[in-house]
Amino acid sequence: MTIWFATGNTHKKAELAAILRDHEIRIPADAGIDFDPEETGGTFLENALIKARALYRLALETGRGGKGKPDPVIADDSGLCVDALGGRPGIYSARYGSEGCKKLDAAERNALLLDELGDNPNRKARFVCAMVLLFSEDRFFIVQETLEGEIISRAEGKRGSGGFGYDPILWLPELGRTVAELSEEEKNRISHRGKAGRRIAGILMPAPL
Ligand code: IMP
Repeated sequence: MTIWFATGNTHKKAELAAILRDHEIRIPADAGIDFDPEETGGTFLENALIKARALYRLALETGRGGKGKPDPVIADDSGLCVDALGGRPGIYSARYGSEGCKKLDAAERNALLLDELGDNPNRKARFVCAMVLLFSEDRFFIVQETLEGEIISRAEGKRGSGGFGYDPILWLPELGRTVAELSEEEKNRISHRGKAGRRIAGILMPAPL
């Protein structure tokens, strides 16, 4: 089936498409649609639902994204939560350090976070992903998953060139690598989005009658 993924992030699209192989994953940009709803929620979960509903309503209003009835929509909201920073940047991960000034790129955000954390010995952090599968305005499923790790030391700087965003600074002690040093497949197997996507894949499986 065709499923619309409410994101503009092509890395996220590739990660989800690798999990939901039996389905065609399309993002608004694939149809030339500019989609950037305001994320006004206070939690990952609320923001994921805001994005899913916004895309579903757009499909209803425009008649695009499904014949007769809109195709199902998936939306995620994700970010990095650092314990020593009280869970920040959290839902503001994409905008971290950009308050009132130009938007920082990923490398600048990583450098800023390493600076802010300094030599704090508590490096515990996790990626969080809330994912919504929405069939209609009032019928949806939500899952939330995590990938636990530690922020690498400032001295080490960032490591690896795979993935995106904060991947080069999240260290996985059991693997002895950062997330950016994993292959796409390795990341998908353990990541917050990979785990959430597989739970959604389970919900999409036809239930025996
Ligand atoms: P969202 O698109 O509103 O969910 O913003 C998520 C932001 O969190 C991204 O722009 C990244 O900065 C960060 N993020 C989420 N997932 C990942 C990941 O898998 N790796 C690295 N950074 C991530």
